[in-house]
Amino acid sequence: MAMMTSGCGSADSSTAAGGETSAVTTAATTATTAAETFGTTQHPEKEASEYGKVIALTFDDGPNTTCTPLILDLLQKYNARASFFVIGDNITEESAQVMKRAYAQGCEINNHSRTHSYMNKMTAEEIKAEISYTSDLVEKYIGEPTRFFRPPYIAVNQTMFDSIDMPFINGKGCNDWEEKVTVQQRIDKVLEMAEDGDIILLHDQPSNYQTVEALETIIPELQKQGFELVTVSELFFAKGITPVSDSTPKIYTNSMQESNW
Ligand SMILES: [Zn+2]
Repeated sequence: MAMMTSGCGSADSSTAAGGETSAVTTAATTATTAAETFGTTQHPEKEASEYGKVIALTFDDGPNTTCTPLILDLLQKYNARASFFVIGDNITEESAQVMKRAYAQGCEINNHSRTHSYMNKMTAEEIKAEISYTSDLVEKYIGEPTRFFRPPYIAVNQTMFDSIDMPFINGKGCNDWEEKVTVQQRIDKVLEMAEDGDIILLHDQPSNYQTVEALETIIPELQKQGFELVTVSELFFAKGITPVSDSTPKIYTNSMQESNW
């Protein structure tokens, strides 16, 4: 692979987790809360030190009007937050209403490209167009752009890291896009993998009802084990970590450890 040192995207990295600048002088008396950093609608008035075990459930390939609302019903029932990595071409007037509901519930809307193609085969311009289309559309509906990026098929290259101004997010998955993976297998795999600081990768594809059913067990069981279910932003905030969003080739599966691709 060709390692390139130049690239766009480093400008915002110092503000990605917020609060560092003022924290230096004010930490002793007033620590920044998640609500101050991300907005009161989205996050609780909690400081990083007030979090215990945290985990971020993430859902790829929405939004839609079938499975996404069922997942939101469950998150609402259990007072949990999650993150949705949406595909720009799936955002319609109808599905955008579901996305707005997710945001209003405290969930985060993130970027999973416009067309869900292999972006490691694209030019820098094509990559940027994929990202900005989705981010702009998300901003149009919820009022803020996407914060994190999940590469389609987790296919990455250096041109992508140079061109995309967001931290790259992977996650621990249970192959829940495959119909043959049963509800029980999904439950068992997620509960067996779950560790503090983890990102769990699931799918809210239009007919993925098996994952909805699995969540009926996964969400309360994780909570019973002491995990707080938070957004990806909140996950990093709780661990006091600023995820890299420059051209460094890192992709996160757990907020506390990034891996080289
Ligand atoms: Zn996907």
